[in-house]
Amino acid sequence: MSKHIAILPGDGIGPEIVAQAVRILDKFIADGLDIKYQYAPLGGAAYDQYHHPYPPFTQKICQQADAILLGAVGGPQYDKLERSLRPERGLLAIRKDLNLFGNLRPAILYPELANASTLKPEVVSGLDIMIVRELTGDIYFGEPRGIHTLANGEREGINTMRYKESEIRRIGKIAYEAAQKRNKKLCSVDKANVLETTELWREIMTEMNKDYPDVTLTHMYVDNAAMQLVKAPKQFDVMVTGNIFGDILSDQASMLSGSIGMLPSASINETGKGMYEPSHGSAPDIAGQNLANPLATILSLAMMLRYSLNNEQAAQHIEQAVGKVLAQGLRTQDIFEEGCQKVGCSQMGDAVLAAM
Ligand code: NAD
Repeated sequence: MSKHIAILPGDGIGPEIVAQAVRILDKFIADGLDIKYQYAPLGGAAYDQYHHPYPPFTQKICQQADAILLGAVGGPQYDKLERSLRPERGLLAIRKDLNLFGNLRPAILYPELANASTLKPEVVSGLDIMIVRELTGDIYFGEPRGIHTLANGEREGINTMRYKESEIRRIGKIAYEAAQKRNKKLCSVDKANVLETTELWREIMTEMNKDYPDVTLTHMYVDNAAMQLVKAPKQFDVMVTGNIFGDILSDQASMLSGSIGMLPSASINETGKGMYEPSHGSAPDIAGQNLANPLATILSLAMMLRYSLNNEQAAQHIEQAVGKVLAQGLRTQDIFEEGCQKVGCSQMGDAVLAAM
């Protein structure tokens, strides 16, 4: 049966970088992969066309799709819109609509780009970590919350960290399955020594290990995890953690690689349906100039093939082609260094296609 993909180019550099990933998708289709895709607007592009950042037209296509490929949304021309109509609202709406609670953010550093990192090349070269972050619960959503005034007139701010067992189990399942597809090592990050919510988290993650006996589970307190990520990041394979710890650790880990134009990401739900997008934004400063690095988007397509379309071989095919192109010395301006050949967005797409 055909798999259906919704393609949402979005704003700024979105259409340019997505176009390069679609060329690769077209190659797979020409070679016999049974995939159909359909375009829909999201964010500012959707506001321009339908006066809403996530219009019913887009919603219907996304709901029916097996997976979604997104460029990026946002731009200064939309900054003055009323909050509910801003491009970023489209992103939040789609995540909520499809219940995309599991965020997968790899931090990969190709050996050829080791100099782009602020850490010593020997510490980060060949780095390949996957951070699995719970995206819809934790202290960001827990009630009660707010700022109120105490009897003595002093104000107090409150947020509540809470996780239900079912919420921990479903993100645990994504993390264990991701570990099974990689090096079978899972590190669960918590603060179980002081936070009961994460004591429960640790208990459930441990209990789930019996269903995934091939995965080696370890636990780490979040403060230690932050230190280890800069001290010896290559010790990690998959890390799983809650929303707030994951927010911080995934940004920290992504910066180990030094280049935002290289990092893909995925947000997935219980059925395995997911939205795949580069970790960066719409880069309005370089939009329309053929300067953007399309590799994060191309690598997002590889993640889609692996996690939503169950095609590990095609995913690896893309990742190896990206490695080859970097080894050939081709660089977009964001990852350029002396001695390499500077290319534009579409030339980088040409090179990846040729390497495949
Ligand atoms: P940004 O990631 O768009 O850009 C930051 C810097 O990185 C810029 O100098 C940009 O030129 C560069 N850059 C980003 N992606 C690149 C690529 N592929 N190749 C080469 N250089 C690249 O972040 P920002 O400037 O803070 O935000 C711009 C817009 O993007 C805003 O409207 C913001 O709301 C939006 N945004 C969207 C998303 C998303 O769609 N998921 C995420 C973050 C920001």
